[in-house]
Amino acid sequence: MDMHVLAVTSDPAERAQLEQIRGPAATDDAVITLQFAATLAELAALADGAAPAPDLILLNPLLADAPPGALWQALGTAGDRTPLVLLAPATGLSPAEQAVRLGAVTYLVTAATPRELLRRLLQSVVVATRLGRPPLDQQGQDALVLESIADAVISTDEHAHVSYCNLAARRLLGLEVAQMLGRPIADLMRLQDPKSLADIEHPVWQALASGAVVRIPAGCILSRPDGSELMIEDSTAPIHDGRGRVCGVVMVFHDITNARELQAQVDHLAWHDFLTGLPNRFAAHRHLNRILKEAQAAGQSLAVMYLDLDKFKLVNDTLGHAAGDALLVSVAARLRSCFRVVDLVSRQGGDEFVVLMAPGSSRLDATQAAQRISAAVALPHQLDGEPVHVGCSIGIALYPGDGDSGDVLLRHADTALHAAKAAGRNVWRFFQQELLSSAIERRQLENGLRQALGSSEFELFYQPKVRLRDGALCGCEALLRWQHPAWGWVDPARFIRSAEESGLIIPLGRWVLGQAVRQARRWEQQGLLPGAVAVNVSALELRQGDFADHIGSHLAQAGLDPARLQLELTESALMRDMHGAHALLHRLKGIGVSLAIDDFGTGYSSLSYLADLPIDLLKVDRSFVHGIDHAAPRRQTLLRAVLALADNLAIAVVAEGVETAPEADFLAAAGCGQGQGYFYSRAVDARTFERRFLAAAPGAP
Ligand code: C2E
Ligand code: CA
Ligand code: CA
Repeated sequence: MDMHVLAVTSDPAERAQLEQIRGPAATDDAVITLQFAATLAELAALADGAAPAPDLILLNPLLADAPPGALWQALGTAGDRTPLVLLAPATGLSPAEQAVRLGAVTYLVTAATPRELLRRLLQSVVVATRLGRPPLDQQGQDALVLESIADAVISTDEHAHVSYCNLAARRLLGLEVAQMLGRPIADLMRLQDPKSLADIEHPVWQALASGAVVRIPAGCILSRPDGSELMIEDSTAPIHDGRGRVCGVVMVFHDITNARELQAQVDHLAWHDFLTGLPNRFAAHRHLNRILKEAQAAGQSLAVMYLDLDKFKLVNDTLGHAAGDALLVSVAARLRSCFRVVDLVSRQGGDEFVVLMAPGSSRLDATQAAQRISAAVALPHQLDGEPVHVGCSIGIALYPGDGDSGDVLLRHADTALHAAKAAGRNVWRFFQQELLSSAIERRQLENGLRQALGSSEFELFYQPKVRLRDGALCGCEALLRWQHPAWGWVDPARFIRSAEESGLIIPLGRWVLGQAVRQARRWEQQGLLPGAVAVNVSALELRQGDFADHIGSHLAQAGLDPARLQLELTESALMRDMHGAHALLHRLKGIGVSLAIDDFGTGYSSLSYLADLPIDLLKVDRSFVHGIDHAAPRRQTLLRAVLALADNLAIAVVAEGVETAPEADFLAAAGCGQGQGYFYSRAVDARTFERRFLAAAPGAP
C-alpha cells in the first residue's frame, strides 16, 4: 500500500532518520513518498502549491521558526483531516500529553524507533484512517496513558530484560529509550537497602522467581547509571501469559527523595529544640546516660546543672512572647559560650536549661562554670534594640556523690535549683540531702489527692475544638479540675504530676474516663455532640495490661458509640515501648475509639514512627503555635512541614493554645484543620459548655 507522508521538522538528524523509511523494505514493498518542511514558510509554500494531499503528517512541534499557534494555521484544513503523528523529542514535556492535546494519533521518537517498525506503524495508521477506524487500539491508548502517568513504569521479559519503559522511568534514570530496551534491568538500576546500604536482589528477579508481588524496603536507594542516587518506593508484579506462566514483570516506582528530606527536617526535632537549636531534653537524657557510663568506667566525677531564668515570665508578659523567644535565643547563645564543646548545653522547655559537664568535671569546675554563667547571662540582652536584664538561678548535682543514675541526678539538680530560687535570685546551689525535706510538701499533695478520690472535689471541664476555617465546633477535650476544701483550685499540671508519681493516676484516670463517657453519652442522646469527647491518658495508665478492656467496658456500660471517645496520648508515653504501643493502639482502634497524639513538638516529635501507628489526630503543642503568625520563618516552615507530613499520612491536625486571631488566621491559611485555645474558650464546666457551645450553634458536619 503506497502512501504519501508530509514530515514537518527542522531537525536535520530527525530528517536523516526519516529519509530511511522510503521504500523498499524487507517486510513489504509499499512505496512511501516523503516531503519535508523545515520552516513555517516551507510549510505554507507546500500548502499553497500543487503538492498531493498527504496521507499522514509527521510533526515535530519544535519547528525552529514557528510561534505557537502559527503551526496549526499553516497546516490549515489538512491538519484537521489528515492523521497526525507527533515527532517528540526524547526529553521535555510529556510527549504523550502533547500528542493527546494536539489530537495526534500517537507519537514517535524517531531515534528510538527502528526503521521497520516505523514503516509498519505509519502504514497501520494510514490504513486505519482509510477504513474509517480509530487508528489506535486499546493497547495504543493504554500505552499513551502509561506514558503520561507520573510513576515510573518498566516492564521486562522473563529474563529481566527491559521490554517497555515510560517517560517517567526514563527521566528518573536519565536514559533514553534506546539505552534501556533489551538491557538487563539490574544493569540500569542498582538498588541498595536504606539502612545497611547493602545491594538488594532486584525486585524484578524476586517477582520472576516467586510469581508474587514484591515490594522493596521503603526508602530504598536507587543508583542511577550516572552515579547519582535517589530514594524510591516500588511495587513489582509478575505478568502471566495465557497459560498462567510468568512471562515478565512490571515494576512501578516513584522518587520519594523530597518527602524523605522533609521527613529528616522534622525528625531533627526529635533531638533539638526548635527555638534555640540546642539539644532538647531527650537528647540530654540520652547523653547523660552515655557519659555516666563513661564516668563510671573511668572512675571520674561529673556535674549536672539545672538552670532557670529569673523574671522570665515578666519579660514575656510585659514585652510579649516574641521578646521572650528572642531572650531565650540570646541566653542559649551565652550559655553555649560558657562551656567547652564536650559539655552539653540543652533546653528542657520553657526557660529551663540543663548543662551536662563532661566526665572529669569537679565541684570546682562546676562552681567556676556557675560564676561564668551568672556573669554572662547578667549582661544586658538586646531585644528590639532595648537592653533587657535578667538573672538566672542554678542548681547543681554531682556524680557520684549526689546520685548515680541520670534520673536521680536531674531530680536532685532540680531540687537544688528550687533551693537557689528560694534563696533569692541569681544564685547557685549545690544539692544537699536536707533539701529533700521540700519533698514533704509533695507528700501533702499526694495525701490530699488520696482523700479527694473518695469525695466530690474533682470535676471535668470541657474545652471546645473548632474547625479553623469557619469556627464550627468539632469536638472537645475533657480537662480535670480539683477544688481542695482548704487550698482552693489546684493547678492541674501540679496535681497530675503528683498523681502520676504516686500511681494515683490509675484510679483517677478511671474516674475521668467514666465521667467523660457518661457525659458524652448524654450529649449524644440529646443529639448535641459533634465529633468526639477527648480524654487525656497518662503513660502509666497505658501500661496497665487491662487498659483496652477497661475502655471497652466503660463504653459498653454507657452505651456510647466508641467513635465518640477520643484518647489523647503523648509521644513519650508511646515511645517508651514502641512494640507494646503498636499492639495496644491497634487494639484500641479495633474497639472503635479515635486516637490523638498530644503535645506534638515537645517530645520526640517524630512523624516517621507515627506513620506506623493508627493515629487519627495530631495535637500540635502550644509552644509551637504561640505567636506563629509573627514567628521566625524557620519555625513557620517547620510547622508547614509538620502539616504537610500529617496531611500525607492522612492525619488531622489540631493546633493547641490558639490565643489570638492572627494565630488562628495563620494556621487556617497554612492548612491546619482545627484549633483549640483561649481564643475560642477556656475549659468550662459541662453545663456552661452545653449552653455556650452545644445548644447554641450546629457543629461541624
Ligand atoms: P494538655 O492535655 O496539653 O491540655 C491543654 C492544657 O492547655 C490545659 O491545661 C488547658 O487549659 C490549657 N490551654 C488550653 N488552651 C490554652 C491557651 O490558649 N493558652 C494557654 N496558655 N493554655 C491553654 P490544664 O487544664 O491546666 O491541664 C494541664 C495538663 O494536665 C493537660 O495538658 C494534661 O496533660 C493534664 N491533664 C488534664 N486533665 C487530665 C486528665 O483527666 N488526665 C490526665 N492524665 N491528664 C490530664
Ligand atoms: Ca490533652
Ligand atoms: Ca496538649
